[in-house]
Amino acid sequence: MKYESSSQFVDSLKETIPDVIVDDVDLVRGHNVDWTGKVEGCARFLLRPSSPAQLELILMLANRFQTPIHIQGGNTSLVGGATPIKSEFILTTSKLKRIRNFDSQLGRVTCEAGVTLSELSNYLKGTGYHFGVDLASRDSATIGGMISTNAGGIHFIRHGGLRDQVVSLDLITPAFGLVSASSQYLKDNTGIDVGRIAIGAEGTIGVVTSATLRLVPNTASSFTALIGVATFTEALDKLRFARQFASLTAAEFFTYDGVVLIEKALGASIPFRSRFYLLFQFDGGMSLGHELSEAFGDSDGDVAVATDSTASKKTLVST
Ligand SMILES: Cc1cc2nc3c(=O)[nH]c(=O)nc-3n(C[C@H](O)[C@H](O)[C@H](O)COP(=O)(O)OP(=O)(O)OC[C@H]3O[C@@H](n4cnc5c(N)ncnc54)[C@H](O)[C@@H]3O)c2cc1C
Repeated sequence: MKYESSSQFVDSLKETIPDVIVDDVDLVRGHNVDWTGKVEGCARFLLRPSSPAQLELILMLANRFQTPIHIQGGNTSLVGGATPIKSEFILTTSKLKRIRNFDSQLGRVTCEAGVTLSELSNYLKGTGYHFGVDLASRDSATIGGMISTNAGGIHFIRHGGLRDQVVSLDLITPAFGLVSASSQYLKDNTGIDVGRIAIGAEGTIGVVTSATLRLVPNTASSFTALIGVATFTEALDKLRFARQFASLTAAEFFTYDGVVLIEKALGASIPFRSRFYLLFQFDGGMSLGHELSEAFGDSDGDVAVATDSTASKKTLVST
C-alpha cells in the first residue's frame, strides 16, 4: 500500500533527522516478518529514533503528512500485532535503550521503551531486586512492547501483569506530543494519569517511550514442585491448596501430550508419567519444601520437589 504523502514524509525526515531512516532491504525484511514467520508486512522503511525527542519529531511529521506508521518493539507478540500490513514505515524502539534511574530505597527503575526484559534483569543483578514479570521471550521482548500488550508471564499469579508494575510512563501521541510524563512516586495523586490508557493499547494511542516500574525484593531461596494428577478437578484442588501459601510465585498446568513434545525436542525425560501436570514455584526454604511435598504427596498423584535451580533441572527433567 503506497500513500501519496509518504514521499513528502520521507523528504522531511531526510531534511531534519536523516540518521533515523533506513531503507536497507535486508534490514527492513527482518522487521517485516513476525516471530511465527506466518505474518508478513509490506514496510519499505525502518525508522530508528535514538531519543524520545527524535521519536516525537517523527510522529509529528507523520501526523502532518497523514502517513501511517507501525510501532515495533521486540516483534515477539505472536499475533501479528507488530507486523506492518498497512504501513510502509516501521518505527522501532530498538535504539531507546537507556536505563535512566534506579531507586534502591523505593525499589523503582526508570527505563526507555527499547530495553529488553533480559537487559533489565541483567541491570538489576546484585541490586537485591528483580522485575515481577518474566516470560520466555525475555531476550527480545521490550519494556515498551510488554506495556503495550499488558504482558502477563509466569509469575502472574503472584505479581500480576505489566499493568500492576507500571508506576508511571512517558507517552507520546502524534497530535499532542508528550501527553504523560514519568513520575518516580508510587503515591502521586496529582491530576489524571493519562499515560495508563496506553497499557494494553498496542500502540493505538501513542508510543510509550519510557516507564518507571516497581521492583520486587529478592528472596533468599525458592523451590519448585512438579505434581502429577489424573483429573482436571484434582488439578484445580491442588491449585487451590497451593494458593493458600503467600509464597506461591508461579503455577503452570500442562498435559501429557505437551510433555511428549518437550521430551522429543530436548531429548529429556520427566520423572513420572501422568495425565496432567502442575508446576509450582514457591519462595521459601527446605522446611517449607518438605512440608508441601508431604501435603501434595497425600494424594494419588506423583510429586517431585527441587530446592535449588540446579536440582530443579535434575529433579524435574533428566537428560
Ligand atoms: C516464546 C514466547 C513466550 C511468550 N510468553 C508470553 C507470556 O508468558 N505472557 C505474555 O503475556 N506474552 C508472552 N509472549 C508474547 C510477547 O512476548 C509479549 O506480548 C511481549 O509483551 C511483546 O513485546 P515486544 O517488545 O516483542 O512487542 P511487539 O511484538 O514488538 O509489539 C507488540 C504490540 O505493541 C506495540 N508496541 C510495541 N512497542 C510499543 C511502544 N513502545 N509503544 C506503543 N506500542 C508499542 C506494537 O505495535 C504491537 O501492537 C511470548 C512470546 C514468545 C515468542
